[in-house]
Amino acid sequence: MAEPGWAKGDPIRTSDDYLESLRGRDLDVWLFGERVDEPLDHPIIRPSINAIAETFDLAERRPDLATAKSAITGERVNRFLHVTESVDDVVAQNRMQRELGRLTGTCFQRCVGMDAVNSLYSVTFDVDEAHGTQYHARFRNFLEMAQRQGYVLGGAMTDVKGDRSKGPSEQSDPDLFVRIVERRDDGVVIRGAKAHQTGCINSHWILVMPTMRLTASDRDYAVVCAIPVEASGLTYIYGRQACDTRAMEPGSIDVGNAQYSGQEAMIIIDDVFVPWDKVFLDGEHEFAAPLVERFTAYHRRSYVCKSGVGDVLIGAAALVADYNGVERASHVRDKLVEMNHLNETIYGTGMAASHESFRTAAGNYENDGMLANVCKHHVTRFPFEIGRLAQDLAGGFVSTLPSEAELTHERLGPLLDKYLAAKDGVPTEHRVRVLRLIENMTMGRNAVGYLTESMHGAGSPQAQRIQIARLADMEGKKEAAKRLAGIDDGTR
Ligand code: SF4
Ligand code: FE
Repeated sequence: MAEPGWAKGDPIRTSDDYLESLRGRDLDVWLFGERVDEPLDHPIIRPSINAIAETFDLAERRPDLATAKSAITGERVNRFLHVTESVDDVVAQNRMQRELGRLTGTCFQRCVGMDAVNSLYSVTFDVDEAHGTQYHARFRNFLEMAQRQGYVLGGAMTDVKGDRSKGPSEQSDPDLFVRIVERRDDGVVIRGAKAHQTGCINSHWILVMPTMRLTASDRDYAVVCAIPVEASGLTYIYGRQACDTRAMEPGSIDVGNAQYSGQEAMIIIDDVFVPWDKVFLDGEHEFAAPLVERFTAYHRRSYVCKSGVGDVLIGAAALVADYNGVERASHVRDKLVEMNHLNETIYGTGMAASHESFRTAAGNYENDGMLANVCKHHVTRFPFEIGRLAQDLAGGFVSTLPSEAELTHERLGPLLDKYLAAKDGVPTEHRVRVLRLIENMTMGRNAVGYLTESMHGAGSPQAQRIQIARLADMEGKKEAAKRLAGIDDGTR
């Protein structure tokens, strides 16, 4: 008798359970002007689902790395759903992220939810302390359900923002930031749109959060809540990626990374009802800023994911040098050293931020904000330089190769096999495949994750510079200088 498969409502434990849990949800997903029947079966969407499935496989293979014992359920849960209980828990997130970046070569999409869980855990506690509300207990109940069921959580922070010089309540169209349009006895109704939503279609629940500091007149915009991805009133408009339609062509070479990709979509929230037990902030506008600051502190060191993706690109650049027979050339070796230096600098600052974690009033652990901002700021630059060096080592064929259809063509295939050959003993196809991978990561689908997301994800470069300026303690530095220079100006 065949093993019984996953059934709706069962806990999701394995990647097969996860894939089955996505099937038949009848989501309102749009791509190329058409409603997508089943995202799971769509060749452009499926690689992004595979990337999340890898987080379940890793949890099975390496429970030490990708699971943790939860104080909420008393059971082991996927680390992406875990509330950090120690410094080691925060550090372990970074180790897991590097490994998943290395395994997938792209964005595996679950860190937004993980970082939302940990920032909301402490912020809901602080709101309750200040206002006597019940948000923390509600949030813990939600989390307990999510941990028991093994759900994938998406975090929705980035509003579409309209006129960037104006706040939410000053916009001529009030819907440009997500807001409460109705308060009822049984809950609230929300409306608006969230942009660049990583992995939203591949999730089970979405944690909606405000995107910026709010004032008293923005009260209706101060909303945090959980909504099921299947909620009626949600529309998902898929963000297309460079070279995405290659996934619809026959063959597996030209896509570069046939298995994995990231996913971003716009979510239109058209009057979605949220019951009170899933509302975790309602009007306490002064807590929007601490929430954004805590979330970005976690998320900006989550970008060590890019050091794992960088491992793949550095490996690809080294392989192409080997295949071309130039692996011993001193400039090639030096470029690979430079790439590793940049990559480890990203990882080092992210890990340092996590090692410097402190206990919050709510009892979970939060990483250092300054070092996290420095980490993310490196990420806005170094992957671009690593990508430039990878293209340098790849040579011009990284962007002039013929298609797989010619490589397998009856007449042209043997000619290309002869004239695209490199070092003796290296199959031409291997050289072509690694060049396509470099193309994929620096210009194609996964350049979205490796480059553009590195620039803008978790905040564009200026957002980190503002935080670095705020956290730099310049007065303390001036005092240190004055003391050693023997300056006594009466201010000490
Ligand atoms: Fe995680 Fe990195 Fe993707 Fe953000 S960009 S969700 S940190 S893998
Ligand atoms: Fe991101």
